[in-house]
Amino acid sequence: MTSFAFEPNARPLAVNERAALIADPGFGRVFTDHMATVRYSANRGWHDAKIIARAPMSVDPATAVLHYAQEIFEGLKAYKLADGGVALFRAEANAARFRNSARRMAMAELPDVLFVESCRQLVRADRDWIPDVEGGALYLRPFMIASEVFLGVKPAAEYLFCVLASSVGAYWKGGARAISLWVSHDYTRAAPGGTGEAKCGGNYASSLVAQADAVARGHDQVVFLDAAERRYIEELGGMNIFFVMDDGSLVTPPLTGTILPGITRASLIQLARDEGLTVREEPYTIDQWRADAASGVCVESFACGTAAVVTPIGTVAGPDYQFTLGTGATGQTTARLLQRLTDLQRGRAPDPHGWLQRI
Ligand code: PMP
Repeated sequence: MTSFAFEPNARPLAVNERAALIADPGFGRVFTDHMATVRYSANRGWHDAKIIARAPMSVDPATAVLHYAQEIFEGLKAYKLADGGVALFRAEANAARFRNSARRMAMAELPDVLFVESCRQLVRADRDWIPDVEGGALYLRPFMIASEVFLGVKPAAEYLFCVLASSVGAYWKGGARAISLWVSHDYTRAAPGGTGEAKCGGNYASSLVAQADAVARGHDQVVFLDAAERRYIEELGGMNIFFVMDDGSLVTPPLTGTILPGITRASLIQLARDEGLTVREEPYTIDQWRADAASGVCVESFACGTAAVVTPIGTVAGPDYQFTLGTGATGQTTARLLQRLTDLQRGRAPDPHGWLQRI
């Protein structure tokens, strides 16, 4: 089943009102006219795929997700290309990660073709919502909830899959600048055997207090250490991390189950290797990072993800230490990889790996 019923929004936002909203969209606050929905039940399988007007949903107070948090989500972008076309970036990779998340959360696995087709059809319906601003894109938010109405701890037998589209500009208010990180030695994000590599809402709920702590201390983002030894750097609350060494090589924490396998991470590893750079996916401790920043062995660091793309890290602090990466400003390798990725995503450079899918 991949055919979608299309029930156009009978009252789409007026063109001038839309133009006003997307002239300065910010991030995650402006939503388009439509959404995609697909339902699952143990009896019927996946059914009732449609593109409909975006509207509030009514849920029974006993809906399983409200109690046991069976919820997963994704984040990907549709870009306007240099030639005027519109493309999704690596949607199949998001579909595969979504299935992995579903399996970990004992939820029904949505076939990749339904995932991708939901995104395509929604972007087709709402392509006029892509802002023509710096960093402009449609940020797609596929998510799935346990929609069965029952109280009891067991995997639900019914699910609702939905995709929202949000007109977005650049992620960082005031433009890209090197961010400051707070290393959390109190809170961890994920333990071995836990849900760290699944993109489930619960991971984010449990990370908020650590992020709020970092902000209260005057930093932009929290960086988490591993739960077992509290030594190895894992990732930020919503971004992976890379270290650039003085010999030009890159290091990034390996995918051992406790960090999210970022699609930006995978893309940057590939682009760096395409350039002939060495990329090592290996454990890196906070003590080593401090020492390497001080000695000049680690010359740059950056965070990466779909929302914030590539974000340079300027300074890092913990309870009794603080250090600066390089000059504290955007490094050369960071800037070059950001440029390469955004040129590819916006159709300004060749796409040798076939990552763009025109809608
Ligand atoms: N880590 C976490 C915890 C995230 O939420 C995200 C955003 N999905 C990432 C890393 C980056 O992943 P991606 O590059 O696929 O956006």
